[in-house]
Amino acid sequence: MRKNTKFFQFLKSLKFRLILLILVIATVPSLILSMGIMRYYESRAVTIRAGEVLSQAKILANKIAASEYMSMGNVRSGTIQAQIDLLTKIYDGRVIIVDKNFKIYCDTYNLDDNKTIIAEEVMRSFKGVDVTNYDAENHYIEMTIPISDPEDSTGTVVGVMLVSVSTDNIELNRIYLSKMATIIQMIVMPVMLFFGILLILYNVRPLSLLSDGIGAIRDGYGAESLQVNNYTETRQICKRFNEMIGRMKVMDDTRQEFVSNVSHELKTPLTSMKVLADSINSMPDAPKEMYQDFMADITGEIERETKIINDLLSLVRMDKSAADLNIASVNINEMIEQILKRLQPIADRQRVELVLESFRPVTAEVDEVKLTLAFTNLVENAIKYNRSDGEGWVRVSLNADHQYMFVKVQDSGIGIPEEALDQIYERFYRVDKSHSREIGGTGLGLAITRSAILMHRGAIKAHSVVGEGTTFDVRIPLNYIA
Ligand code: ADP
Repeated sequence: MRKNTKFFQFLKSLKFRLILLILVIATVPSLILSMGIMRYYESRAVTIRAGEVLSQAKILANKIAASEYMSMGNVRSGTIQAQIDLLTKIYDGRVIIVDKNFKIYCDTYNLDDNKTIIAEEVMRSFKGVDVTNYDAENHYIEMTIPISDPEDSTGTVVGVMLVSVSTDNIELNRIYLSKMATIIQMIVMPVMLFFGILLILYNVRPLSLLSDGIGAIRDGYGAESLQVNNYTETRQICKRFNEMIGRMKVMDDTRQEFVSNVSHELKTPLTSMKVLADSINSMPDAPKEMYQDFMADITGEIERETKIINDLLSLVRMDKSAADLNIASVNINEMIEQILKRLQPIADRQRVELVLESFRPVTAEVDEVKLTLAFTNLVENAIKYNRSDGEGWVRVSLNADHQYMFVKVQDSGIGIPEEALDQIYERFYRVDKSHSREIGGTGLGLAITRSAILMHRGAIKAHSVVGEGTTFDVRIPLNYIA
């Protein structure tokens, strides 16, 4: 089974594909070429042979017409007959002479003497045309030549000469050449294949180097970054791979930092609880009021721990893919009214005035739960980090154009220093750690808000003047862009 998989892997490999390519390139063109050359050789040799025989036969036909040969009857002899026999011998052929009554006057094979011959070619030659045919299957050239005296101005055809010559020696030459070509191919092709395969193996080596390098980095040894610079392509792959590794390292660092922050944040309330419990245990005679006081503090720490855990869970949910969004058409005016209604008691406790300005009715395709959480965090922060002299206010305004809805959360609070504005969305970041903790902050609220807004393909921006207040501007598309 394993052997089989290895074999299939080899069949799918680039190496194998290139070897196959070399094989095709080495064999197909040379086969086509040798076949073409053979064909060309045959037709060329036949044409030359036919031309030679035709010119000899024509000379002979002229001589026959000018002599008494056609009227000699059965007692044919002399130079003409000798020349006819010579022609037959030289070209390994047969000559038949037909008289004007279509009777065979002379056959050098002596087979068809006195027979009548009515063939199309003979008819045509009686009209003064010579005809040449090549029979490739039986390897002979056949030609018919009119016998007429060139001196005779009337051009009377007194007979027709049929000459057929064998092309066996052309065929033998062709077979010989074809054998030679096959032998040369058999010698050249393995040599070409051998060097071709060597070249392929040499040229695909950088790919193995890439694979080995990636394996080494995966297993934790080897170089810090991948460098295979043999080809532009491998250099490009290495560059992309190194970039990816860099990003993964950053992600890993962020994750480690997050885990250590989480552990620290979760440990703080537990440490306080332990200190409180230990103190109480070490005072068995402490008054009941003191116990109640300590227990109230422990309850506070438990609430804090619960809030951190809840915020972490919200953040994890936000980190999931956008596919988890529960998009529906939502009346944003009502949604924000509900948020403010729920936060009103906290605002009252802080003596902060809550104002809502709705410029128009807005309906948008959003995930109501996630967006409610995002805006609740913003308004809650605006109340929490506000002044406590009873003069504080939070103004929430809602507006929209044909593409976006705009939510502005403005407060008259303590403000955020310029240099901290970029960091406030980071997990566990607080401008003033002790103040935030005092008022129940976890440092996760704005991270959750930003994630929810980005999931909706929206944007958030903060402006602030320390001591005067902060404004958060949020923009979200009315129609959800998947
Ligand atoms: P927290 O739970 O501490 O409020 P957030 O992520 O919501 O955490 O906010 C991060 C930090 O940004 C806060 O600790 C606070 O210092 C600052 N911050 C957020 N909103 C405001 C605001 N409206 N006014 C002043 N400071 C703010």
